[in-house]
Amino acid sequence: MKLHLLLATAGSIALVACSEGPTPDAAAPASDATEGGNILLQEWDTPFGVPPFDQIHSEDYLPAMRAGMDEENAEIDAIVENADAPTFDNTIVALERSGETLGKVRRVFYALNSAHADDVIKETAKTIAPELAAHRDNISLNKALFDRVLTVFEQRDTLDLSGEQKKLLEETHKQFVRSGANLDDKAQARLREINTELAELSEQFDDNLLNETNDFELLVTDRADLGALPASLVALAAEEARRRGHDCECWAFTLQRPSINPFLQYSPNRELRKKIFDGYAMRGDNDNEYDNKAIVARTVSLRAERAEMMGYDSHAAFVLSDNMAESPDRVYELLDQIWEPALRVAKAERADLQAMLEADGIDDRLRAWDWRYYTEKVRKAKYDVDEDALRPYFEVHAVRDGVFSVANKLFGLQFEVRDDLPKWHPDQQVYEVKEADGTHLAILYLDYFARETKRGGAWMNALRPQSNLDGFVTPIVTNNFNFPAPTEDSPSLLSLTEAETFFHEFGHALHGMFSNVTYRSLAGTSVPRDFVEFPSQEMENWMRTPEVLGMFAKHYQTGEPMPQEIVDKILASAKFNQGFITVEYMAAAYLDMAYHTLDTPEPVEPRAFENAAMADINLIEEIIPRYRSGYFQHIFSGGYSAGYYSYIWSEVLDADAFMAFRETSLFDHDTAASYREQILSKGGTRPGMELYRNFRGRDPEIGPLLENRGLN
Ligand SMILES: [Zn+2]
Repeated sequence: MKLHLLLATAGSIALVACSEGPTPDAAAPASDATEGGNILLQEWDTPFGVPPFDQIHSEDYLPAMRAGMDEENAEIDAIVENADAPTFDNTIVALERSGETLGKVRRVFYALNSAHADDVIKETAKTIAPELAAHRDNISLNKALFDRVLTVFEQRDTLDLSGEQKKLLEETHKQFVRSGANLDDKAQARLREINTELAELSEQFDDNLLNETNDFELLVTDRADLGALPASLVALAAEEARRRGHDCECWAFTLQRPSINPFLQYSPNRELRKKIFDGYAMRGDNDNEYDNKAIVARTVSLRAERAEMMGYDSHAAFVLSDNMAESPDRVYELLDQIWEPALRVAKAERADLQAMLEADGIDDRLRAWDWRYYTEKVRKAKYDVDEDALRPYFEVHAVRDGVFSVANKLFGLQFEVRDDLPKWHPDQQVYEVKEADGTHLAILYLDYFARETKRGGAWMNALRPQSNLDGFVTPIVTNNFNFPAPTEDSPSLLSLTEAETFFHEFGHALHGMFSNVTYRSLAGTSVPRDFVEFPSQEMENWMRTPEVLGMFAKHYQTGEPMPQEIVDKILASAKFNQGFITVEYMAAAYLDMAYHTLDTPEPVEPRAFENAAMADINLIEEIIPRYRSGYFQHIFSGGYSAGYYSYIWSEVLDADAFMAFRETSLFDHDTAASYREQILSKGGTRPGMELYRNFRGRDPEIGPLLENRGLN
C-alpha cells in the first residue's frame, strides 16, 4: 500500500495530497496587478457558481488576495469593536463568516498553483506566502479578539450549544491557544523566536539532505553487476552516467529511490549493494558539513520547550491532542499491537532469504543490503505481474467508470458530464454529481494527466467547501493526478498503482461531496491528519476485489476481462513482503514518537538516541527504519512530527470499516448509508473516534489490518 502525505498550505486551506512529489520551483518575472474589474472580486454568475476559469487572469490573484485580507481585517476590527458583550453569534460565528473573499480566492489560487501554474502564479505564491502568514499571525495574536473568544469559551457549558456549535467554539479557541494567544508578552516573544528558528532548521535540514543525496554516485563499469535490471532502467542509468560527464561504457546510480531501489533489487554484486545502501542510510550522519545531527538535536529540544510553554508534557502530547489518537499512549497502544506480529513475520521472511543466500554459495549472514535482492527473486517467481501487460486493462476512462459504478452501487450517485462549465485546462472533465433521485449534490473536476505546469503526485481539494450557515452551499471538489497522457497511438493506460490512486482520491472527493455540516471550517476533509486518509483508503478496498475488477478492468482493444490468473496474482501480492514493509515503516514511526515524547529540552545525541530507540523495540539488524534521523524529512521538515504513525492508524480504520461490508455484502445499502451518514457527512464536527464508534458500534480493531497484510 502506498504512503500518503497530507500537506497544509498557508492558513486554513487544506490540500489533501497523497504522494510525495516535487513542487515546481522556477524563477519568474515580477508581475503587475491588473487594474479595473477583477473577476475574482465579483459575484460569479456561472452555473453552480463554479470559478469562471475562462475569465480569470493569473495577474488577478495577487490584488484579489490582498483585497481579501483588507476585507477580513475590517471584519475582525468590527468584531473586536462590538460594544455588546461577546456571544457565540457576535464572536465565534462572526469569525467563521469573516474572510469570505480571501478564502474563496485563495482556494482557487492554491488549486491552480498545484495543478496548472504559470510563471505569474508561481511568483504570486512566493510573494503572497509571507503576507498570508503575517495576516494569520495578526489575527491569532490579536489580544482583544482572543479575549472575546475566551469569554465565550469559558461559558461553553452553559450556552446551550449544539454538538457542532460546541466543536466550532472549541476548535476556534484551540487555534488561538496553539498560536500562543494566551501567553504573556515575554513568552509570546520567545514563541516567535522558537518558531523562526525551527523554520530555519527545517530548511537547513532539507538543504543538507539534498547535498548529501546529490553528492553520491555509484558508477558501475561491469555490465554483469547490473544483473537482470530491466532494459529501460539500464538505459536510464547509462543516461545518468553521461549526464554526470562520464565518457565510458558505464552506468550511474543515485540515492533517489527510483535509482537505488532497482539497483538493490537486481545487482548480484554484494559489495556494490553495500556501498549504495550505506550511502543512502548514512545521509546526514557523515560528520561532514552536511551533517544533520545537530539540527535534529536542536529541533527536538526547541519543540519540547515550546510544548512545555503551551502546557503539555511533550511535543507529541501537544500535537496529538489535536488528532484522533489524542495522546501518545493511544499511539503506542496501537503500534505495540501490530509490532510483535510484524516482527515475527519479518523474522520468518529473513529465514527464507537467508536460505537463498546460502544456496547462492555465500558463507555469511543476510545483511540489510541483501534483503531487496532476494525478495525480488521471490516476487518474480511467485507474484510477477508485468505492469505493462496490466495497463491495457486500466484505460483511464474505464477506471473512471469503475469508480463511478462503485459510487453508484453504494450510494446511488449519478454523474453527468458538463462540458459547458469553465475549466482550468482543456484535458479536465467536469461532472455534476447527483443523488439517486436527481437532486444536485456537488461538482467534481477531474484533472488526469501529467504536464509541466502540474506538481507531482495526486491530490484532492475543495474549490468551495460545503456549508449551511446562510443557506445550503453545495461543494465543488477536484481530483488531480499525474497519469500518462494519451499519445497518437494509445489512450491513457494506467498502472495498477495509478488505478488505485484514482479510487483513493475519489474517496477524498466523496468526503468533500457528502459533507453536510453548518460551518465550512468543519466541512468535508477538515479532519485530523490520522483520520483524513481513512475515507480515501477505504475506497481502495473496493478496487481490490475480484467483483469490482470484473466490473471495469477490461482490455481497451478487445473488451476482454482481465484474466483470472492475473487477478489472483494481484490479490495475493498484497500480502507479499509485508513483514519487512511493516517493520521498516513502524521502526520509523517509533523513532518519531521516541524523539517527540521527550519531556525535557535537554539536547540528545541523535545517533546514540536512535540506536537506543531501535534497541528498545528489538529491531532486527537486517532492517533499518524506513527513515533514519538524518533524512527523516516527514518529521524534521515536512510537518509530520509525532504524526508518522498516522498512515497505519488510518489503515486500521479503513480495514476494520471495510469488514462491515465484508460481513454484510460488498454493496450493502444500509451499511453504505450508515457509512455516509456517520463518517462522510460529518466532516470535523465531532471527534474522529466518536464518528467511528457511531458507524461501527465499537472501537476500531486491528484484526482486519493484520489479515490484509498477512500478519496474523
Ligand atoms: Zn490521500
